Amino acid sequence: MMDFVKEVTLCEVGPRDGLQNEKKIFTVEEKVELINASAKAGFPVIEVGSFVSPKAVPQMANTDDVFKALTPVPGVEYRALIANLKGVERAVACGCKKVKLNVSASKAHNLANLNRTPAESVAGFGACCDAAKADGVGISGSISMAFGSPWDKEIPLSDVKEIVDAYLAVGVTEISLSDASGVAFPSQVYGMCEQMAKEYPQVTWWLHFHNTRGLGVANILAGMQAGFTRFDTSFAGVGGCPFVPGAAGNVASEDVIHMLDEMGVKTGIDLDAAMDVSRRLVAMLGHGTDSYLLRAGKSKDLIREIPTKQIKNQTMEKK
Ligand code: ZN
Repeated sequence: MMDFVKEVTLCEVGPRDGLQNEKKIFTVEEKVELINASAKAGFPVIEVGSFVSPKAVPQMANTDDVFKALTPVPGVEYRALIANLKGVERAVACGCKKVKLNVSASKAHNLANLNRTPAESVAGFGACCDAAKADGVGISGSISMAFGSPWDKEIPLSDVKEIVDAYLAVGVTEISLSDASGVAFPSQVYGMCEQMAKEYPQVTWWLHFHNTRGLGVANILAGMQAGFTRFDTSFAGVGGCPFVPGAAGNVASEDVIHMLDEMGVKTGIDLDAAMDVSRRLVAMLGHGTDSYLLRAGKSKDLIREIPTKQIKNQTMEKK
């Protein structure tokens, strides 16, 4: 029997990573309905939206109002993505208690677009981190393209470590390794997680996989084998990435919860309630998504009465 962790923490990132890639712009009421239902289903962490330029991401322009309108469930962490100091200010103003910064691990991409290395970008987050701490807002960091990018043949592990060091230098100890481009594969994930856990025991790690090539669930399992316990998932599997051709969303939350339930790994999330949220989302979207569970249902629901007539007919045919 393979050795896995017994309990994992899932973050529902659909309201941010999923909805930001949809053409439809969700209203505050629609988002609040989905977020409240996700919290009620038992998600311990929910990524509500982002405080970035409304011109760049119009789908997230109402994040401040969503924070003000949602019904906080005690113990649930509601977080938002930010890009700069302005993001911290918006978080404080609407009562958001946890923010997440992001940098791309691709040196070439960062140099071409921002004229600095990813580690230099992270060093520039210092003011954000100080402001967040002064205002009692928790802060975490994400490293997108940590497993590869559309612009690099591979991202050397030393480059990723440089970014982790930069995050630690500005006081960020909760870090997410993200595969926005969907190129990560299980043995790579296992190797990287094992290395990172060994070298940075002080870091609280998250993993964030997009299911672009169908490897999302396998990558989560590889992370679990290396002892990682925090993963991002998205209701009904919605999402994508504007920079990556053919990008898919995160692994569907219900698919991951179903697998973990079957394995006896605790999530604290009610699968039926999570599936209801995803069905509601699909109804709001008006189009189908990459969710196995919404298509096939739970394995446990397969148990039904044997249709006896068919069996009789088959036996007769054999004679
Ligand atoms: Zn993502």
